[in-house]
Amino acid sequence: MDSIFAKRMETLGTETAFEVLAKARALEKQGKDIVHLEIGEPDFDTPRNIKEAAAKALYSGYTHYVPSAGIPEFRQAIAEYISKTRKIDVNADEVVVTPGGKPVMFFSILALVNPGDEVLYPNPGFPIYESLINFVGAKPVPIPLKEENDFSLDPEYVKEKITKKTKMIIINSPENPTGGILTKDHLKVIADCVADRDDLFVLADEIYSRIIYEGKHESITAFPGLKEKTILLDGFSKTYAMTGWRLGYGVMQKDLAQKVAQLMTNSNSCTCSFIQMAGLEALKGPQTESEKMVAEFKKRREVIVSGLNKIKGITCKKPKGAFYVFPNITGTGMDCRKLGDHLLYNGGVAVLPGTSFGKFGEGYLRLSFANSVENIKKALERIGKALENR
Ligand code: PLP
Repeated sequence: MDSIFAKRMETLGTETAFEVLAKARALEKQGKDIVHLEIGEPDFDTPRNIKEAAAKALYSGYTHYVPSAGIPEFRQAIAEYISKTRKIDVNADEVVVTPGGKPVMFFSILALVNPGDEVLYPNPGFPIYESLINFVGAKPVPIPLKEENDFSLDPEYVKEKITKKTKMIIINSPENPTGGILTKDHLKVIADCVADRDDLFVLADEIYSRIIYEGKHESITAFPGLKEKTILLDGFSKTYAMTGWRLGYGVMQKDLAQKVAQLMTNSNSCTCSFIQMAGLEALKGPQTESEKMVAEFKKRREVIVSGLNKIKGITCKKPKGAFYVFPNITGTGMDCRKLGDHLLYNGGVAVLPGTSFGKFGEGYLRLSFANSVENIKKALERIGKALENR
C-alpha cells in the first residue's frame, strides 16, 4: 500500500537525542537509575529576573498577537546587542524573532535554497542541518570536522567544495557536538569565498557564542561585506537556560528578513508576546546568572575531560566552547551505537553516539556536561565499570 504521507516526509530527518531520552525514560519507569548526559540543555533554572519579567508582561496585557517579525522594542534591543557584541551595525528591520533558534534554520533554508542547490554543512554537526537540506531537495555536502584539527573545519577543504551550485555554507561556532571553535583565520578563508558571490549565503549558527572557555567568539559577520551575506542565528535557550521558552532570532539583510517574517506569518503568526518581553529583560538586565553558569560549566569540563581520559579505551580533547565533550572511543573496539546502548542498558548512563551527528561522528560519543559534578562523577565511574564488564 502507498504511504499516506506526503513524499517530502521521506527526506526529513530527526534528532536522536529525543529518541535516547525516550529509551532512558522507559528504563527509569522500570525503576532503573539513569544519569542523563544525552540532553543538550543547561541544568540551571532560568534566572529569576527573566521569569519575573515574563510574569509582569503576562499580567500587563502581552497576551495578544504582535508583529510576525517581533515586538519592535525587542528587535531594537537585539539589533543593539548584536551590533555591540559582533562589532557591526545592525538595524531593527534586519532582525526576526522566532520561537527558538531552530526556525531560523528552517526558514532561511526554505527562503533561499532551491532543489538541486548544494549546501555545505559541518559533520559531525547539529543533525537538523542535514535534515533540512534534504527536505528542500538540495544536496548536502558535508564538511568533515576532524579531531586532529581540534574539530575545527579545514578552510581549504571548504574552498575546494564550493561550486557554482553552492547556495549556502552552514557554520557553527562553538560547535555542537564537538566543542570546536572557528578562529578569525578560518572565517577569513570562508568570507573571501563568499564575498564576491551574490548568490552564496552563510548560515552562522552562533547559539553557543556566550558559552566559550578559551579565546573569544568570532563572528563571520564582522568581515567586510559579510553582514549582508550572513544569516546570524542566536537565541536564549543556552545562554539564559531558556530551552523550554522557545525564543531565538535571526539577523539578516532586510529583504531576506521580510521573507523570513512572511514564513513566520504562515506558520506561527508571531513568537509568544510575553516571552519576547522576558527576552528583553534577559538582554538588558544583569548578566551575572548567565556568567555564573558558564563558570560552573568550565569547572565541570575539567572533571569530565580528566575523568574520561582515565578510562581505558577512551581519549578526550578539551572542548573550547558549548557544554559537550566528544571523546574518541575507538580504543574500546566497539562502534559508537553499540557502546551507547551498552552504557545505557548495562551502565545506567545515557549518552549519544557520534553518528547521531552525521557519518563523520563514528568512533565518538557525545556527552553533555550540563549536569552536576556529582552526577558527572557517578557517570564516569559507571562508564569505567561498564567497559570492564562486557
Ligand atoms: N543550534 C545548535 C547548534 C544547537 O545545538 C541547538 C540546540 O540544541 C539549536 C541551534 C537550537 O536551539 P533552540 O532551542 O533555540 O531552538
